[in-house]
Amino acid sequence: MNKKCVIRCQCKFCVVSNNFHVFIPSHLIERDTIIDDLQQKLKCSDRAVENLHEKIKELLEENQHKSEMIQSLNKKIAELEVDHKEALDRIMALQKTRSRTSNSTQMSPASFLERNKLQEIYKITREINISNRQLRSVFNFKMSEISQLINQLVNPVLKLKNIEIQSTCEIEDLRSFYKKEALEKNLLSNKLQELCGNIRVFCRCRQDPGTQTILEFLSGEEISVNQNGNRKRFSFDKVYPPTATQEQVFEGTRPIIASCIDGYNICIIAYGQTGSGKTYTLMGNEDNPGMTIRSIRELLRICQERKNIKYTTKISMLEIYNEAIQDLLSKQSNAQLEIRTQAKIVVIPGLTEIEVKTENDIRRVMQLGNKNRTIAMTKMNSESSRSHLMLILYVTGVDNVSGATYHGTLKLCDLAGSECISKTEATGQRLIEAAAINKSLTALGQVFIALKNKALHVPYRNSKLTHLLQPAFSRDAKACIFMNISPNIRNLGETLSTLQLGASVGQVSLRKTAALNF
Ligand code: ADP
Repeated sequence: MNKKCVIRCQCKFCVVSNNFHVFIPSHLIERDTIIDDLQQKLKCSDRAVENLHEKIKELLEENQHKSEMIQSLNKKIAELEVDHKEALDRIMALQKTRSRTSNSTQMSPASFLERNKLQEIYKITREINISNRQLRSVFNFKMSEISQLINQLVNPVLKLKNIEIQSTCEIEDLRSFYKKEALEKNLLSNKLQELCGNIRVFCRCRQDPGTQTILEFLSGEEISVNQNGNRKRFSFDKVYPPTATQEQVFEGTRPIIASCIDGYNICIIAYGQTGSGKTYTLMGNEDNPGMTIRSIRELLRICQERKNIKYTTKISMLEIYNEAIQDLLSKQSNAQLEIRTQAKIVVIPGLTEIEVKTENDIRRVMQLGNKNRTIAMTKMNSESSRSHLMLILYVTGVDNVSGATYHGTLKLCDLAGSECISKTEATGQRLIEAAAINKSLTALGQVFIALKNKALHVPYRNSKLTHLLQPAFSRDAKACIFMNISPNIRNLGETLSTLQLGASVGQVSLRKTAALNF
């Protein structure tokens, strides 16, 4: 059995979580503060650059407007200059005519009028020339103002650009530092889990009021069975008596579930005879949800809490009945699937995956899976306790800062009833079912024995169940097995065999040698 590892520490950098103290290094806190400051500074610089760009844009627009005005004035001046020249020519011609006739004739009233008109034109032309000069000087003055302003702005813009380049470099440095720290954190947490044992075995006794019991709950980790006055003691990572609530049971697995988010393969299995509370423990009911809803709720909560990482979560649901895998979320009925191993990863090609974002999405998907399971079981004239149910949650996270990607899975497995069905009792369909369940649960026991003995070969492929559960017993995995028992004296035989199997699973350690020899 794996001993619990409890590290007690009083320092201000430790956070208490489930009796475990988790150390948060001070340089990580300082690093986060520096990142915040730099991001603040960068935002201010961006705003200043934006304002300057706006100002330059306004000035350029004004400049454009003035240039257009000057152009149209220049055109007008050119026209007036042409008029002016024509007028002057005409004046000259008139003056010549007058000088020729001045001595001999008197000025007629018509020529007097023309002379007045010419004088008026001359006056207007002079005024236009003056306003043209004034406009030119105003324009030149404004242009020099604009170029001065542009010169003043060039230096601050260049400085801001430099600051931006420096900040980008610093952020890049911090990003790689963060990536390294995140990797180290994962390694440490992995090590801590290894010390605590990668397979945890919990014993849960269901409520059965008014029945004569043979069980005694000695402590939070020990239970004894009274077999004809002979007391047998069993130790587990945790023993939950009939009074334990769904909330208390979930608390025991909460830390393991959280590591699914960091990219671990997590598996929760419920083992025991029919009626011992496996489905109650995993699924629960509407008012008192079990491990499934509580775990997924917890995962979604942590995903929302971690702002730096973008998570996507998907669900699959399947059952193994008579050694055949049935997709419970597929639109096609009887969608049977096969297991493949690709690059040492166990996959089920074609298995339906549905994206879920909220607890309601999960409930809807589970309802659909349960409905399809009931229909399939009715067609085969069987009961749900004669098949293994598996719900798989895939969590993918992409770290916005480091760019690292995490792939974690959470498998929840409600096994078929483990009771021994006498071959003489079972016939026909029931006999086939009993043989299939017996084969897969025996295979599960053989896997535990091989892992316990650190055998060179672990017989995962002896059944569909163990083949699918293979990743749950690898080194980067954490498994929780609930040994569900009934307190009723009538179930003594099944209770004893469940507790014996649980006690031997508790001795399994997923160290390198055992776990890598698939
Ligand atoms: P199994 O899945 O092992 O066949 P179930 O989970 O269906 O068993 O449990 C059988 C019955 O016992 C159900 O009606 C369930 O609600 C009830 N039950 C099981 N465990 C508990 C418990 N701890 N507290 C209250 N009722 C329970």
